[in-house]
Amino acid sequence: MAASEQRDSEGEASLVPEPVSQTGLQLGAANEQRFRTLLGHLPGFCYTVDRDLVFRSSDGAGLRALNLEEGQVVGTKLTALWGTTDPTYEPYACHLRALQGIPQTYQDVCLGRSLEYRLEPLHDADGTITGVIGIGFDVTERELAKSERARLSAQLRQAQKLEAIGRLAGGVAHDFNNLLTCIIGNLELAARSLGVDSPAKRHITEAVAAADSAATLTQQLLAFGRKQVIEPRPLSLSRLIERVQGMLRRLIGESITLKTQCQRELWSVMADPGQLEQVLVNLVINARDAISVHGEIEVETRNLTLPAAELGLPATLQPGRYVELRVKDNGRGMSDVVRARLFEPFFTTKENGEGTGLGLATVYGAVHQNGGTIVVESELGKGSTFRIFLPVVDAEAAVVNAATSHPPRPELDEMPGGNETILLVEDEPMLLELAHCTLRQLGYTVLPCASADEALRTSSELSGEIDLLVTDVVMPRMNGRELASRLRALRPNTAVLFSSGYGENVIAKQGVLEPGFDLLRKPYRPSELAERVRGALGRRERRS
Ligand code: ADP
Ligand code: MG
Repeated sequence: MAASEQRDSEGEASLVPEPVSQTGLQLGAANEQRFRTLLGHLPGFCYTVDRDLVFRSSDGAGLRALNLEEGQVVGTKLTALWGTTDPTYEPYACHLRALQGIPQTYQDVCLGRSLEYRLEPLHDADGTITGVIGIGFDVTERELAKSERARLSAQLRQAQKLEAIGRLAGGVAHDFNNLLTCIIGNLELAARSLGVDSPAKRHITEAVAAADSAATLTQQLLAFGRKQVIEPRPLSLSRLIERVQGMLRRLIGESITLKTQCQRELWSVMADPGQLEQVLVNLVINARDAISVHGEIEVETRNLTLPAAELGLPATLQPGRYVELRVKDNGRGMSDVVRARLFEPFFTTKENGEGTGLGLATVYGAVHQNGGTIVVESELGKGSTFRIFLPVVDAEAAVVNAATSHPPRPELDEMPGGNETILLVEDEPMLLELAHCTLRQLGYTVLPCASADEALRTSSELSGEIDLLVTDVVMPRMNGRELASRLRALRPNTAVLFSSGYGENVIAKQGVLEPGFDLLRKPYRPSELAERVRGALGRRERRS
């Protein structure tokens, strides 16, 4: 078979006979010109080798990417180019098979470029195979795009998985909140009714401590499920770090150096200061745990403008202005396996009893709830860097000093009381009973109701004042917020205190508390209820 009858994969005649050109192929002058123009523009090249795999020709613009001139390799052996004579080396094996008459394709990487090769046997006029004709195509861009697509879809899968676990965790935690409120509350009330030296008091104290730990766990799960009620305000991360760095130093001990590098004039972000503090503490504790004895932790903030999506950062990070918080350690780093799972709740590589696996789950939830993004860069033995990007808020917005959002819990026996009238609404009978009992013991006149309807009825039948409405937020038929606005329309002087287990949308858009609402988070202790009731009544007195 002549060169004119060579077949490509579609079976069409591809090259035309005579005369023999420099390329070693038989081409007419016009065809030779066409062939050169084609090869001169394609991101590829074409070559022929004889049966000994010695180059007979090499043409095409794609050779430049491999630092080769056209024709430069003619006369040399392919094996010299490969640097191996191992016949099992894939390119070698493919050429041998092509010499047996079987077309081949394979991919290879050369000088950082991905190349796709197509090999066809080269026949002479008698049909004898005299060599191989090879076509190489530069597919680097395609391969890059492919791996970027794979990276993005892995990211998406990861985000969806965390979203699903978050929903589950948030749901479980919500129910636990009610149960714990009831357990802790009843224990506290029981303790109050016992004498100081009752032997049962010690047991109750222990039980309260255990229930408190359970409540902390519940809060972490809520945080991961982005169900914590947060109170974002414009704040400066640099100032927050300045304020907590003393505490961070105490946490990590003296053998580890803490370096902080805070950008002056840092843009403001909208976030819940208490929650961000928790994020910082969790990251720094993890960094500490990753350092065996001596090491360094760097906490850094900076302004960052992303003009366009950046390679290596999640695609969800839209172009815009961000404040970046970076926590970097030179500890042991982590494997790909750990990196893929580290935000999952209860994922830990630490010894039993040392890690809960909830630190980063909370961080993940908190960052996302505040509209941010978190990425991790880490390699085994090379330390880790956690980068958090928070969107910038309007620079005009006043920067308020970050303050801890959780006031300390009052002591058991120091509950403040009063003699005002309180309309108490809660659809969970256990909790209604508990709050009723607590407030009554403190001297208040309490009107307990199991629903919003009942509360409105009670109000209409009462001629005297209602000083305070304490209501649950989520209830069937009519929610606490609607009840509050209806009641306030009739009794504008009544103060309102909401109680809620998590960031229901009724009171809080995406878990963000609307300004002007007083909210008591569940689980709460009787002493907290007492404190918050007194606070709400006090503010009302000052207003009137
Ligand atoms: P815990 O600290 O209780 O194990 P976390 O959710 O905080 O749970 O972290 C999960 C896991 O992620 C850790 O057990 C550890 O394997 C890994 N990890 C987190 N931060 C780092 C870090 N800075 N360096 C190395 N590994 C880390
Ligand atoms: Mg941790």
